[in-house]
Amino acid sequence: KQLIIGLTGGIGSGKTAASDLFANLGIDVIDTDVLARKALELNSPLLSKVFNHFGQQLKLADGSLDRAALRSIIFNDSTAKVWLENLIHPWVKQAVLSALTKATSVYVLLASPLLIESGQVELADRLLIVDLPEEMQISRTASRDNNSPDLVKKIIAQQISRPERLALADDLIDNSGDLNHLEKQVNSLHTKYLELAKLKTN
Ligand code: ATP
Repeated sequence: KQLIIGLTGGIGSGKTAASDLFANLGIDVIDTDVLARKALELNSPLLSKVFNHFGQQLKLADGSLDRAALRSIIFNDSTAKVWLENLIHPWVKQAVLSALTKATSVYVLLASPLLIESGQVELADRLLIVDLPEEMQISRTASRDNNSPDLVKKIIAQQISRPERLALADDLIDNSGDLNHLEKQVNSLHTKYLELAKLKTN
């Protein structure tokens, strides 16, 4: 089976920006954030469980989930957070395994904000970390989501620490530069991964 590159990094580090560049190079990207969102899409069986558990006030007029309301519930209530994780994580795990069997590119990128914390890093042959100083994580995330720097700081505090994450890296992207700087690094990693993929299949 193909080479699997695990990609992670703290909030706002640029995982999506980096993944998009790999996707542009023809690499299949499996993004657990995308899958987790899909788990609760309109009319999904998991979504009706969420409504039954937290109440119908989370249902928007079109029947879809009020994600902002759910986020604020789980942010303030750890029992609720655990309940939701226990609902979604097994579904996402299955979806990842299924996507891996369907992937056809020379190597595959498995992108997840919780790759290390969830243990899914075990599925990967190598770990690629997107790294950014915390002040830049805070400023980029706050301006992207239009939320407070304090909220971003709280989320950073809940994630694995930067030194712990960096200690596990096989490869590193320094995303403190501009998008052009990011793209150059992605291109050279792509060349390296194509070589490694060749070695793995031979
Ligand atoms: P999250 O953990 O919240 O999902 P992420 O790691 O996927 O975040 P992105 O959404 O890719 O991070 O990037 C965060 C913000 O920073 C986005 O608005 C993105 O456009 C911007 N950004 C990413 N890389 C750069 C860069 N090199 N220069 C400037 N802005 C960037």
